[in-house]
Amino acid sequence: MTEVLRASNVETMYGRVMAIRGISLTVKEGSVVTVMGSNGAGKTTILKTISGALDPFKGQVEFEGRDITALDPDVIARVGIAHSPEGREVFSLLSVKDNLMMGAYCRKDRDEVARDLEKVLGWFPVLRTFLEKQAIYLSGGQQQMLALGRAFMQRPRVMLLDEPSLGLSPLLISEIFQIIKRINVEEGVTMLLVEQNASVALPAADFGYVLETGRIVMEGERDVLMKSADIREFYLGIK
Ligand code: ATP
Repeated sequence: MTEVLRASNVETMYGRVMAIRGISLTVKEGSVVTVMGSNGAGKTTILKTISGALDPFKGQVEFEGRDITALDPDVIARVGIAHSPEGREVFSLLSVKDNLMMGAYCRKDRDEVARDLEKVLGWFPVLRTFLEKQAIYLSGGQQQMLALGRAFMQRPRVMLLDEPSLGLSPLLISEIFQIIKRINVEEGVTMLLVEQNASVALPAADFGYVLETGRIVMEGERDVLMKSADIREFYLGIK
């Protein structure tokens, strides 16, 4: 498998506070990679640094071998990286349909866009029932579906997903993760997923990183991490 995304020794600061301290990670094409860590570990900062919302103080981000570290977020989106942010950040006064179409605003292949819209509505039938309604009327879980759908409408090569399980019931979490896996397998979209909830993220991933106070402290293939005593005790809650 070829490497699609690579972060090398990335440090990102908020003023004088260093939120991530020399992060290096790689994401192989077609895989699902998760970065797990508790509240404040730096997960959101990693995704924002990759998507260009934050500029790193040090280090480099490469996408398909190209240095994207200094590019603006809209350029990074256009080269093929979609960011589904924490808290979803849907446009609450726009209709569900307009939110989805915002994801496709750079695309010129109108027939394909229409087909992709149908695909998203097939994955999340509840969104069809709200299609012309403002997104403000959606529940948290439905907004999460909308954010995922909007990111897919960009037709990215890589999706950056910030805590898709946050605030959702176990049933909804399992629904959302099934769709994430389908987008990965059926549509060939590579996923970089950050999660506090390791017990949902790790089983869905091929490879995982563990982040603690801005540093990667452990990494490995899913099956290796699932067997690690530390991961089981501290992240999965199994002894
Ligand atoms: P959470 O799950 O709570 O979002 P996280 O792992 O995503 O946690 P980050 O949001 O990346 O963590 O935050 C990493 C560190 O940077 C934390 O110590 C946080 O307090 C700090 N931080 C985040 N945003 C800012 C900001 N805008 N200004 C100053 N410090 C910040």
